[in-house]
Order: sequence, then C-alpha cells, then structure tokens
Amino acid sequence: MSPVFVRVALDHPLPTLFDYRCDATEPPQPGTLVSVPFGRRQVVGLVCEVTAHSDVPADKLRAVDAICEACPPLSDEWLALAAFAADYYQRGLGEVALPALPQALRDPSRWARLLAPQERYSLLPAGRAALPDALPARASALRRLAQALIEADALLAADARVIHPKAVATLDAWQAEGWVALEVTEAAALGAAPSVCDGAQAVSPTLPTLTDEQAAAVEAIRDADGFAPFLLHGVTGSGKTEVYLRALAAILAARPDAQALVLVPEINLTPQFEAAFRARFAALNGTSIVTLHSGLAEGERARNWFAAHSGRARIVLGTRLAILASLPKLAIIVVDEEHDPAYKQQEGLRYSARDLAIWRAKQLGLPVVLGSATPSLESWWQADQGRYTRLTLSRRAVAEAVLPTVKLIDLEEERRRGRASVEGLSGPLIAALKTRLEKGEQSLVFLNRRGYAPQLACDACGWVAGCPRCSAYVVLHKPERALRCHHCGWEARIPRSCPDCGNVDIAPLGRGTQRVEETLATAVPGARVLRIDADSTRRKGSAQALFSDVHAGDVDILVGTQMIAKGHDFQRVSLVGVLNADTALFSHDFRASERLFAQLMQVSGRAGRAGLPGEVLVQTRYPRHALYHALARHDYVGFANSTLAERRDAHLPPFVYQALLRAEGRTLEAALAFLQQAAAALAEMPSAGRVTVYDAVPLTIVKVMHVHRAQLLIESASRGALQATLRAWQPILRTLKGVLRWNLEVDPLDI
Ligand code: ADP
Ligand code: ZN
Ligand code: ZN
Repeated sequence: MSPVFVRVALDHPLPTLFDYRCDATEPPQPGTLVSVPFGRRQVVGLVCEVTAHSDVPADKLRAVDAICEACPPLSDEWLALAAFAADYYQRGLGEVALPALPQALRDPSRWARLLAPQERYSLLPAGRAALPDALPARASALRRLAQALIEADALLAADARVIHPKAVATLDAWQAEGWVALEVTEAAALGAAPSVCDGAQAVSPTLPTLTDEQAAAVEAIRDADGFAPFLLHGVTGSGKTEVYLRALAAILAARPDAQALVLVPEINLTPQFEAAFRARFAALNGTSIVTLHSGLAEGERARNWFAAHSGRARIVLGTRLAILASLPKLAIIVVDEEHDPAYKQQEGLRYSARDLAIWRAKQLGLPVVLGSATPSLESWWQADQGRYTRLTLSRRAVAEAVLPTVKLIDLEEERRRGRASVEGLSGPLIAALKTRLEKGEQSLVFLNRRGYAPQLACDACGWVAGCPRCSAYVVLHKPERALRCHHCGWEARIPRSCPDCGNVDIAPLGRGTQRVEETLATAVPGARVLRIDADSTRRKGSAQALFSDVHAGDVDILVGTQMIAKGHDFQRVSLVGVLNADTALFSHDFRASERLFAQLMQVSGRAGRAGLPGEVLVQTRYPRHALYHALARHDYVGFANSTLAERRDAHLPPFVYQALLRAEGRTLEAALAFLQQAAAALAEMPSAGRVTVYDAVPLTIVKVMHVHRAQLLIESASRGALQATLRAWQPILRTLKGVLRWNLEVDPLDI
C-alpha cells in the first residue's frame, strides 16, 4: 500500500499547510479534524488535502496521531469560505478555521466525551424559589453555581465543573432537595437539536396581514433565483422582522432540509427578536432553532454548533461569529441591522460578518437580506449601482403608528434667553418629561457616555485625574465610589482632595449616564428612573431583567447609552431626549457622522411605536447642522446621498479600499519607527504605484496599559491591487523588529 499524506491547517500565523503521514487504514477526507504533533505539543489540525506524495523528506515527516470521530468532515464549501476569509483578511487558513469550531473540538483529549451521553441539570420551581438565598452568604462558589443555573435554566455537568470542580456533587445534593432535575441527554455530537417548544407555545399564531410593501419584499426574496443580495431599507417599526419571518417560512417550507442563518448584532439586548422567531417557528411543525453567540455556556454552544453542522437545526440565530458556522443545507442568510459596527470583529481575525455573508451567499448562489433603517453607506452604494436589489418599507407597520416628530433644542439660544436648565437638562426637555409622567407615558434619555462624569478636575491647579497606565482621563463612577479607566480597567478610590495642591474642591466635569440619572430624580419629581448601560448590566442576564421592568411599565424614564437604542419594541415610550450628541459631529473619524446618524435614527425609532404620538428632542449647540436636519425629516436617503457625495469628493470609502497596519511598542518612537520601515518597504514594491501610503500616526489614545500604539493607513482605488500588495508585504513585515505586536486590518471601521 502506498503511503498517504495529509496537508493540514493549524492555528498558526504562518499561511502554510503542514504535511503529515497518515497510517490509518481509512485515510481521512478533507474537512476532517486530526490530532498531530507540532513541536513538543499535540494540536488539532484540519485536513485540507490528501495526497500520495509530500515534498517533505520522509525522515522529517511526522504522523497523524488520531482522527476525530466525533465530527463528520466539514464540507468543501465551508473550507472554501474559511480559505476566502483567510486570504481576504491576510491570515493563515488555520487561524480562521480552527477558532471557528467549538472549544471541545480543538482539544483532542475531549473528543471522546463529545460522543458520550451528557448529564443535564435543570432548575425546578422549588429551586428557583430557594436559590441563591438558601445558601450561606460566604459560599461564593455555590452562589456562582446557583447564579449560572438561574440564568441558563439548565446546566450540563461539564459546564458546571468549569464553575467549580465539585459542582456535580452539589447539584446531586440539590437534586435530593428537589431543587433541580437530572436528565441524561444524547451526546453533544449526536444530540437532536433542542426542541423548538422551549419557552414558546406551540400554538398557531395569528399572522398579521402584510402591508403591500412587506408583501412585495417577501415575494421578491422568496422568488429569488441564485445569488440575490437584497437591501431591505425599512424605517424603524416598519416590520422588517415580519419580512424575515415570512421569507424564511416560505423557503424552509419549500425545501424540507433547507437551513437559514439569521445574524443579529447583539442577541442579549434584543430578546424580543429571538422570542418572535421561537414563537413563530414553534408552530411550523418542529422547525428547530438554535442560537450561536459568545454568551452561551461552552457545552450549549457545542451542541448548537453540532445541530447546525449535522443539518438538524433548521434556523441558526446568532451574532457575528455564526457566519462561520457549518451549515451544509444553507438556503438563505439574513443580516439584521446590517449597519451595526458589532458585525466587525475588532481583534484576532478582524472580519466583517456582513461582508462574509455576502460572499457566502454568492458562493452558494443564495438570497441574502441586509436589513436596516439606516444602511451602511457601503451597502447603500452597492444598491445605487444596482448590485443589490433595494426593497423599501417606507411606513410603520402598525396602522396608527407614525414616525415621531423631531425637534432641536438650541442650547445657545436657551442660554442667551436666560432660560433655566438643570445640570445640562434644558427647560423644554424637563417640561416634556414632566408631561409624559403626568400622562403615564414613558420617556427615554439617551447619551453615549457611561459613568458619572468623564473627568474629575481641580479648579485651583488644573489637575485632572488620569490613568497611570494609559494616556487617558479616568471616569468618575459615583455609585461604585471609584475612578475607572475605560481603556484598561484601572480603578482607584475617589481622592478627597487634589493630589497635586491639596485643594478639597475637586469637581466632576461633564456628564455621564449616572449623573443624568441623579439629576432626573430631582428635576422630574416622582419619576421612576432606570439606568441601562454597561455598568448597570454587568451581571449576565441583568439587561434582560431591566428591560422587562421597562416593558412591564415599572419605569417612567429610562436613561442609557446606545444599549437602549437597539431594536426594542417599547410600546409606551412617547418621548426620546438626546443629550451630548454634538461631540461626534467634529470627530477626526470620517465615519463618526454616519454612526451618529444611525444611532439617532435608531433611538428616535423607539418613540411612538404603538400609536402614541412620538416626540424626539435633541439638545444641541449646532441646530443648523445638516445631520440634524436630515434627522428631523427622517431623511436617511438625503443624508446617505449627500454623505456619499462628500466621500466621493474626498476619495474615502466606499470609493477607495483601505487597510491599516497597527503597531504596539514600548515607546511611541519604536512603534512609529516600525511603521516607517514598513512604509519604506512598501514603496519598493512593484505595486507601489497603485496604493497610497499615509504617514504613520499615533492613535488618539496613544498609550494603553503602558503600550504605545500607532498606525499606518494604506489605500487604493483597486481592491485587487490592495490585496496583492498586502499579501506581498506580509513576509517583509515579519522580518521587521522593534515592536511588541503588529496587525493588519482590512476594511477598518475605526480610523
Ligand atoms: P422594525 O424591525 O422594522 O423596526 P418590527 O419588526 O419591530 O419593526 O415591527 C414593529 C411592530 O410592527 C411590531 O410590533 C410588529 O409586531 C408590528 N408589525 C409588523 N408587521 C405588521 C403588520 N403587517 N401588521 C401589523 N403589525 C405589524
Ligand atoms: Zn489642585
Ligand atoms: Zn488605563
């Protein structure tokens, strides 16, 4: 028998495959996971090719140790997707493919367990009532276990052991108390996808009658043939979700094995979206839905991944990481809120899930629906050129609901006229909040800054509290009684006096959500105020609990960051106040205004959804700014067209393609020197004439955690030229020294 060799991708920065001898009687197919020796370690690799010869000398070749039986081979299409992503984002294939797999598959010692039955503990009502109060206050491990159980409703024994090594003994004791029930489920790799009836009633829902625009959109998607990208541009509350539901139902009904992938920016912030899918598809004879996101316990995530990989899950609802799920029967992709920056991964493989969704749909010849009230200018431009089909929902779906009126409150004018304001809340805003309170309606107050105040300063000597590790001011957090660095997490107690001059009158400067919460409590007497931001929702599951208080009507005024702007369907909100939006108007980042406009449209869209007339009040010093005018007219199209025209004149994306080289050094000089060498090397390359290289510059926050950061922007009018240049540049970059780290980002969002 002639020897068989496999070429394997490993999670390693070198963009090459590694050859191994394979002595198994059944050689593995491409797409199989194997365990191989690498240096002194044992690592998991993905077989990409099986060949009869290898160029590596026989005495240097090592042998495959084991073949993963738990995971049937990944398809050629999936391998091609990973290869495309690796190539496009300038990474090794293994660096893309392996991190996309469940943790348990990347550790050979855990493969056997994937095929073993699993023990699952679920919380019983008696347990929900008793836990965690019945536990001793200081039993922190037990309390963590109880908390995890309460949040997830059920825990796999394997996940519980991660929380505490003796967790299973505790769970058995709780079972004896009648607090939890134990069931033995199928192996993760074999188990059926979870039942759809989880948390949803299996009753036939009464479907709303589609508006004409919705019906036309559903029809276009359902009847699409081959690769068909759609840009679903629907104003807030226009019923985009209903379009997704109907299109999916039609496509899944037409083909009994078809799968759908639905991407959302943030699953935990928008439980209503998931609930709508579960409720709808529970009724469609057992269409199983699984979720894929980073908030899932590891065991659950592996089960769900396998359900998708085996084709048993018909719908996968997930965040950006789900774009790399294995879906052998994929028939449609939906990207909801396609403009959301959360689709861009900001570390490791810096991919855009939206862009990969388009590629994947093209590869497989599928419809892909990008939905938004404020599409990204990239997508809008594609539609302008006829590459994407535009589907428009121009009105709100609920007959009585109209878009809110948007009014600008001119802060300069208020001041000139000597009108009273309280701590940055203008008179008209406070009056409007009071009116809603009297009418029993709810209000939102939006500002994109958490904490109490962004600075703590001394009037006498000019001292401002700064982070000892970063080139940034620290944020005052009053309830936590701390100063916190939002860049590195450094924390200190609030000083009683100025550390430089001893002055005791140190004062907070500026306003964050905590301060506005405090102000509202006195400015609008009697109002029940709730704050939702990253601080008030640190504990898992707490955001959902807070949002249900709002939905239940237990809150009069909700204050928060962009977390409150996401797709919530608040029924009783009739007023939205916007504070501090101006800062983004003059940012050095050319995308800042696009992001601001999208956020303001989205948060405005929370008002007046159920027929109450909605009003939006924006406090500003620039009431004549074009962005606010477009907002007041709900004129996304006008805003998009004029901003695109500016981008074209300024040679900015989407009219050019960009990449960033970032370097991190012990000193700024080191980081800049590295980038200058890189730029010099690029100038020598044959393609140099087709790319523009800008000067190396420090990042705005130049130092984080004692590390100095700088970046080099390169761009080209030709995507191909940029890609070819980056590919040829990388081997040179690897030879340059003097920095701690560097990375390349293609299509960067933050510049
Ligand atoms: P969007 O995502 O476009 O902001 P949603 O999908 O949240 O809008 O829909 C807004 C509201 O309209 C929801 O309460 C939804 O149930 C309702 N809705 C959607 N389509 C219809 C319809 N055809 N008739 C009546 N109500 C609808
Ligand atoms: Zn001082
Ligand atoms: Zn810091």
